[in-house]
Amino acid sequence: MGLLEGKRILVAGVTMDSSIGFAVAKVAQEQGAEVLISNFGRALSITRRIAKRLPVEPVVLELDVTDQTHLDGLADQVREHVDSLDGVVHSIAFGNPETLLGGKFLDGPWDDVAQALQVSAYSLKSLTMAAKPLMAPGSSVVGLTFDATVSWPAYDWMGVAKAGLESTSRYLARYLGPEGIRVNLVSAGPLRTIAAKAIPGFSDLEDLWTTRSPLGWDNTDQEPTAKAVCALLSDFFPATTGEIVHVDGGFHATGA
Ligand code: NAD
Repeated sequence: MGLLEGKRILVAGVTMDSSIGFAVAKVAQEQGAEVLISNFGRALSITRRIAKRLPVEPVVLELDVTDQTHLDGLADQVREHVDSLDGVVHSIAFGNPETLLGGKFLDGPWDDVAQALQVSAYSLKSLTMAAKPLMAPGSSVVGLTFDATVSWPAYDWMGVAKAGLESTSRYLARYLGPEGIRVNLVSAGPLRTIAAKAIPGFSDLEDLWTTRSPLGWDNTDQEPTAKAVCALLSDFFPATTGEIVHVDGGFHATGA
């Protein structure tokens, strides 16, 4: 029997088959879950095509996490297909690479920073609350971060957004714990996805990981990250919330 047998899971933020969300959807299906995926805007048509590459073609929903109408309608959209959710995966981030990333930190304009914070951090709260009417005690919310306890080359304002995401996750854990809903993050090492390739200078981070991770690091393998997300979605972490699980080859534990 699979780890997620009988569970219904929404994975928000799938564009390509390189997306971490795609790998999560795949592993979740392999582990017995019924999966719904979502994306927004023009990328939605790509998502619909890519969805066919999953073991079972999932329902694809439209959800722009900055659009209150979409958020307000999410529960009804989901109910057209399943009557509840046991898990929600937030695999969403955006920061304008031309103004905020790749060494632009000191000049990043507020409007773009505000957008990055809304899409990449605040949206964990928005998505969780939009899905909450569907979640019973025992449900699990999992998001993706890139270690925000230190600064990194190139990551710039996305690092600030991730610090916001990490804190948002801890507050959600605080407020939703009494209702039996767990909220955790997986902190992944660098993976070659569209979001990552858009960051000028991201290859510097990849080089660091390759040389320093005790376990080594394959930046084209999303599966270890997806497996950790699925473990946190499962019943095997019933007393864990507000946690950040590192899936980074052990990089975070090394000083040099
Ligand atoms: P990706 O580009 O495949 O996924 C990001 C998704 O966010 C896309 O599907 C995009 O359409 C969606 N998105 C952006 N704005 C949105 C909005 N307003 N509403 C709804 N969806 C929106 O890239 P990925 O690397 O798979 O990113 C998934 C998550 O993993 C992100 O939070 C990212 O920061 C995190 N992460 C990535 C890495 C890495 O190296 N790739 C490492 C650690 C954490």
